[in-house]
Amino acid sequence: MAGVLTAAPPLGKGAGLRHSFHDTEWGRAMAADRTGGCVCGAVRYRTTGEPLRVTICHCTWCQRRTGTAFGTEVVFNDAQVAFSGTPATRYRHVSDESGRWLEVEFCPRCGSNLGFTLEATPGLRAVPAGTFDDPGFIGPEQLTTRHVFTRSRRDWADLSSMVETHETHFRR
Ligand SMILES: [Zn+2]
Ligand SMILES: [Zn+2]
Repeated sequence: MAGVLTAAPPLGKGAGLRHSFHDTEWGRAMAADRTGGCVCGAVRYRTTGEPLRVTICHCTWCQRRTGTAFGTEVVFNDAQVAFSGTPATRYRHVSDESGRWLEVEFCPRCGSNLGFTLEATPGLRAVPAGTFDDPGFIGPEQLTTRHVFTRSRRDWADLSSMVETHETHFRR
């Protein structure tokens, strides 16, 4: 991986240096501000501080909204996430099962998934793992990570057994 980064540093100069800087105690503390955004760059965001958890959701709603087998959501308090650039477009969906709303956000230009908020979890915001400029901080060793709604997990989406799994949601 280090070889790949050296050959093609992601996102501009200093990317390689940033990786070794993050390996120090001080570097990790300073790394609490993170940036990300959509594919076209119109919508950007900055997160401050550490996320509460990572949820890998295998529910059929996440399969459809992401167009793939599951959603990988980095969960923050709303106040930890600041958007900039073009405002994201929102779509509010009401769950057949719970009757509660789920509001997804996406770039109006390129359509990238930029996360969601849920009526069920006021004050929290899910940021899609793949939208961070440097998603290297995400992983079961660094952050509380759970697979949820594994009752609808696709056979072809078998994942690491390193993390907790829950048939539906972990809030019980
Ligand atoms: Zn975009
Ligand atoms: Zn889901």
